[in-house]
Amino acid sequence: MANLILFWHRRDLRVTDNLGLSYAQSKGHSLVGCFCFDPDILNREDIAPVRLQYLLGCLQELQDNYQKLNHPFLLLQGKPEQVIPNLARDLGVMEVVWNRDVEPYSQLRDRRVTEGLKEKGIEVTTFWDQLLVAPEAIRTQTGNPYTVYTPFWKNWQGKQKLDPAAHLQPGGGFFEGQQNALEQVNVIPLPSLKDWGYSESEELVIIPGERAAQEQLQKFGDRSLEFYEQQRNTPSIEGTSKLSAALKLGAIGIRRVWQTTQQAIRKSTSDKSRQNIQTWQQELAWREFYQHVLYHFPELADGPYREPFKHFPWQNNPQHFQAWCEGKTGYPIVDAAMRQLNTTGWMHNRCRMIVASFLTKDLIINWQWGESYFMQHLIDGDLAANNGGWQWSASSGMDAKPLRIFNPSSQAQKFDPKAKYIRQWLPELKSVEAKDLVTGDIPPLVRQACHYPLPIVDHNQQQREFKQRYKQVKENL
Ligand code: FAD
Repeated sequence: MANLILFWHRRDLRVTDNLGLSYAQSKGHSLVGCFCFDPDILNREDIAPVRLQYLLGCLQELQDNYQKLNHPFLLLQGKPEQVIPNLARDLGVMEVVWNRDVEPYSQLRDRRVTEGLKEKGIEVTTFWDQLLVAPEAIRTQTGNPYTVYTPFWKNWQGKQKLDPAAHLQPGGGFFEGQQNALEQVNVIPLPSLKDWGYSESEELVIIPGERAAQEQLQKFGDRSLEFYEQQRNTPSIEGTSKLSAALKLGAIGIRRVWQTTQQAIRKSTSDKSRQNIQTWQQELAWREFYQHVLYHFPELADGPYREPFKHFPWQNNPQHFQAWCEGKTGYPIVDAAMRQLNTTGWMHNRCRMIVASFLTKDLIINWQWGESYFMQHLIDGDLAANNGGWQWSASSGMDAKPLRIFNPSSQAQKFDPKAKYIRQWLPELKSVEAKDLVTGDIPPLVRQACHYPLPIVDHNQQQREFKQRYKQVKENL
């Protein structure tokens, strides 16, 4: 059966501004969309139920959108290297299209799927949809991939960026033979979180789906974008876009997001607001930087980039790790942040940096423990961004500055001076004065009365200890 094209959705769960999908439709043939639940991803230890719930919500809307536009959408289950080539063969498609990904597992999987399709004589076409600039399209003057953000940003910002891709248009129905083939295929209904043994959160911190992501972008663009620089570090206010989950699973297209920033710059009336918008563009560039480095250095997924951290003598105290996970370290800003994560599946960026520094530099615990805990809880958990954020905080990654140690008390004084955020997430401390909450100087008897723990370590002492260990490791290199 000729003239059928299959589009395989992975982390691009939308019908608007989707490069691969828009190409697939431009071929003028009948189009079938699909998504495959891959057991190798679902059975990973670092899966977060809240992220799965977000995924299922996005798939529900994607399925509805396909239906409205009169294109079939098939949900499948199994190893993609078997499922996709077999589906393509059974449907008799001439070409399979998808958008590429940077993760090592995805690259391996896609090579296998490509081989399976080629063996069957089926054409494969792929696109870089989730990035504004493809990893191969940007190099240093010596022709190498970038390993430092600032020069990357300077080059990246000058690269041409595409306009949003054309939306999926209504389909024209199928021939009888095509319809029969579609009915023979082994598809599954959309599962629920319960089918996988997880319980659902009543209300997700981020509403899933393409429509919600577009509304969120619009709201952020209208209200907060031009104040981003001033507001982005205050965890008690909604000063950031909260688009990370949508960008992770592709509920929104990155070209659409970039276009919003360009339009905002054109409309802006002051240098200050243009600067704010550019600061947000720099965050989008951080996202791309981490994806590029993971693409070029896949070994980052498995361990530290910098030599001193390859054999670092971490203390790795399991009780300390447990206290960190539960938000019971006795450091209010750290505990508030961990409780936000545990309760909602999201944490403010400033707080992600604070808790990551605390785990690695104050508790002297291997950053990979924290990386994994984050992946088990974050709605936006993403290998490239999470690994990048953790290696940055641990000083083990691609960053010139070797030792970045945050003082929890100065961080709280600077970014949560009235302790609004701390009070929101540590209600047991609501009667304690703000100045004591931010400095962490809460008398032991008050802590006891509030059922709040004593600090599990001393920041200054641990800081010295960390530096000492680092010095020794460097000397032994
Ligand atoms: P905004 O401030 O509105 O930024 C816009 C978008 O830019 C974000 O949605 C995100 O896609 C991207 N972005 C912003 N900052 C960064 C950054 N530092 N690195 C990479 N991309 C960035 N982000 C994730 O998406 N998934 C993760 O698993 C993740 N883990 C992190 C772990 C640590 C230890 C740290 C320090 C940071 C991590 N980040 C991660 C980056 C950042 O904290 C989140 O992207 C951000 O808080 C999401 O909120 P937002 O959408 O409101 O961001």
